[in-house]
Amino acid sequence: MKKQRIDFSKFSSIKIGDFFDVSVLENCDENYKDCYIIGSCNNILIGTNPPPLLKLSKKYDYIKIENNTLKIGAATPSGKIASFCKKHNIANFEFLSHLPGTLGGLVFMNAGLKEFEIFNNLISVNICEGNFLKDEIEHGYRFTNIKSPILEATFEIESGFCKERVELFKKMRQNQPSTPSAGSCFKNPLGDYAGRLIEAVGLKGFRVGGMEFSLEHANFLVNLENGTFNEAIYLIQEAQKRVYNKFKIWLECEIAVLDTRYMGKNSPLNNPYKK
Ligand SMILES: Cc1cc2nc3c(=O)[nH]c(=O)nc-3n(C[C@H](O)[C@H](O)[C@H](O)COP(=O)(O)OP(=O)(O)OC[C@H]3O[C@@H](n4cnc5c(N)ncnc54)[C@H](O)[C@@H]3O)c2cc1C
Repeated sequence: MKKQRIDFSKFSSIKIGDFFDVSVLENCDENYKDCYIIGSCNNILIGTNPPPLLKLSKKYDYIKIENNTLKIGAATPSGKIASFCKKHNIANFEFLSHLPGTLGGLVFMNAGLKEFEIFNNLISVNICEGNFLKDEIEHGYRFTNIKSPILEATFEIESGFCKERVELFKKMRQNQPSTPSAGSCFKNPLGDYAGRLIEAVGLKGFRVGGMEFSLEHANFLVNLENGTFNEAIYLIQEAQKRVYNKFKIWLECEIAVLDTRYMGKNSPLNNPYKK
């Protein structure tokens, strides 16, 4: 497979990481199985020991209308999808105007804003293992059980792009920091908010080196100035420990931590108290 050298301190939204070689997937007959796929790194914290990495080639960056459905390649950026929908007066993708990522990352995370999620209008997903209808994929809040590279997704088309919704999403973003981050650090536990819990254990505005749980929104782990992976991990573990000790709630990472020491079943970021 072709390789591309990426400087993650520039490429990732949290601006952390070194230069790493990333394999570029053209077709699924290539050997992708031992690699971890990345999109545009808006939800990723990369460490010093990442697994072998993979990204989709540019040929998966497209949008087309076919048989009154929308077919979108998984390397297509969210902003491009939002602009396409505006131009063609298509509803329900307005939230993508203010949500960074590529279609593959959005589908894998079932990304969304409030009740607007990428799975809402989904018909099917084409992954390296075949084509799957929405109901054949387990999915929920920031979760799917997809285990191989997503290549394309097909969506229902409903007409009526709504400019007011774009404004609403813009407003919803206003309490979020513009400082580099990877979005929400933890998933909201059922019936609660990760930001509230982080604040309740005294970590809102808590800084270690260049990293901080933002004063604007405590669930955003922000890179104020040359923050490092170790500083980010220290803060993540401190929040998990303090919140568990006080509330008996384990904060589960929403950001994907890409470092072999912190991945898989035995990751120290997993809940050790879970039976
Ligand atoms: C400022 C900011 C605000 C954000 N706000 C929100 C928000 O409101 N709601 C929300 O849901 N998210 C939010 N995010 C997170 C981020 O926008 C989403 O998670 C987005 O889906 C990430 O897409 P990506 O292409 O950058 O994926 P990456 O960050 O590169 O990867 C994320 C995950 O998706 C997987 N993945 C990526 N591409 C593929 C593929 N082709 N096939 C299979 N798996 C793949 C990766 O393996 C990884 O596990 C925010 C991020 C930032 C920086």
